[in-house]
Amino acid sequence: MARMVKRGASVLLAALLILLLVVAFRTWTFGRSLPPPSDAPPPPAASADALARLSAAVRIPTVSHEGGVQDAAAFAAFADLLRQAYPRVHGALRREEVAGGSLLYTWPGADPSLAPVLLAAHIDVVPVEPGTEARWTHPPFSGAIADGFVWGRGAWDDKSGVMGIMEAAEALLAAGFAPRRTLIFAFGHDEEVGGEGARAMAALLRARGVRLAMVLDEGMLVADGIIAGAGRPAALIGVAEKGYASIELVARAQGGHSSMPTPDNAAARIARTVADLSDRPFPARLSPPVAAMFDAVGPTMRLPERAALANRWLTGRLLLRTLTAEPSTDASVRTTTAATILSAGTKDNVLPQEARAVINHRLLPGDTVAEVVARARRVAERRGVEVRLMDGAVEPSPVSPMAGPAWDVLAAAAGRAFPDAVVAPGLTVGATDARHYVGISDATYRFLPVRAGPDDLPRFHGTDERVSIADYGAAIAFYRMLMEGAQRLPAAR
Ligand SMILES: [Zn+2]
Repeated sequence: MARMVKRGASVLLAALLILLLVVAFRTWTFGRSLPPPSDAPPPPAASADALARLSAAVRIPTVSHEGGVQDAAAFAAFADLLRQAYPRVHGALRREEVAGGSLLYTWPGADPSLAPVLLAAHIDVVPVEPGTEARWTHPPFSGAIADGFVWGRGAWDDKSGVMGIMEAAEALLAAGFAPRRTLIFAFGHDEEVGGEGARAMAALLRARGVRLAMVLDEGMLVADGIIAGAGRPAALIGVAEKGYASIELVARAQGGHSSMPTPDNAAARIARTVADLSDRPFPARLSPPVAAMFDAVGPTMRLPERAALANRWLTGRLLLRTLTAEPSTDASVRTTTAATILSAGTKDNVLPQEARAVINHRLLPGDTVAEVVARARRVAERRGVEVRLMDGAVEPSPVSPMAGPAWDVLAAAAGRAFPDAVVAPGLTVGATDARHYVGISDATYRFLPVRAGPDDLPRFHGTDERVSIADYGAAIAFYRMLMEGAQRLPAAR
């Protein structure tokens, strides 16, 4: 008996030892997969002239208000600014106005057989929340250049994109660059209120039979101190974006006097259905873009985290539990369920004849709108609640290649623009204009080459939006390297 116990213990010990060795070995090779930080100097900061042009762009209030209301004069002024600021671009590129304000620039390549590369950005900005203007360090439409930053609404989202692309093209033209492969710049005018402009530009290109070798839009950033445990900044390139589906729930009832309540009370049934759906979230899982992000960023982490990420076969459940504990990371590992609208009743002593709720879902790649609707039906129909899919639903995007020529060109440009960063794929949890180009390109990426730290995130659509002079220089360099790199993509695409 004692011998058997001893034998069992030694088998256990041996198994434990093997496990430890596997964990240690995987952790070691994981750490070695990290490319060393580049010792190349970062690109130069943006020139005073480039900054003045970005500042002028911020001063034009191209605001998209709720319901799509815009000041047409502001958008016309912005188009004029582009024309004056970038004369070479306007001499060499064809410019089309699409959908009443979006600008589509075509830089024809010498070889029309090569599939074009499209760079997207948007001209419009979100409003400044009324009453918060005085909280800005510099007024939101001042375009102030101070303390190493350009300040104002749109300085970051997304006029650094529009103007950065234009700066790069103007500089390339000045240097005598003539593309072999056609380059297209697509600047939407209403991204913040639905992106009809991008949809129309994509439709126009599709109607012309254009297939794109690659698309780059805004979406993710250089995360600096945002990913817990990461030892280096991460240039996160969104290789997919989540889908979108809002579901309306409607409960109907007899109504009547509240002194004699009926069991079919519409308000109560809607409340229960919302609770059922909210209490049973979709299961969490690591989709390929998020797994790839951990593969790239994990090696920069210190030991316990690095070991955990290197051994996801062992720590997978724990990792998911950690990620789901925070709303910001939970969003990247599951199809989310958010009750956003509830309405029922008009008077305290009247039973409502109808109650309504809206649940907004953001879908993980791999899930489908049909599955989300079917799940809502299963839960709601038990309570006699109707389910309707609202307009505007979008399937999650396909996952663009995380290796291969298009990825390599992007990753090389991002790595040279931000030499201290690791380049990593990522999943974009919000919606971007890029989704409209998914049908005409197999390689659709989302990355704005600007650094963001933890205290920068509230500036996004918030107060004190700004972009650093160093980052804007890096962004211009990035777009330039991308335009040059795009020429080297294989012809077959
Ligand atoms: Zn944006």
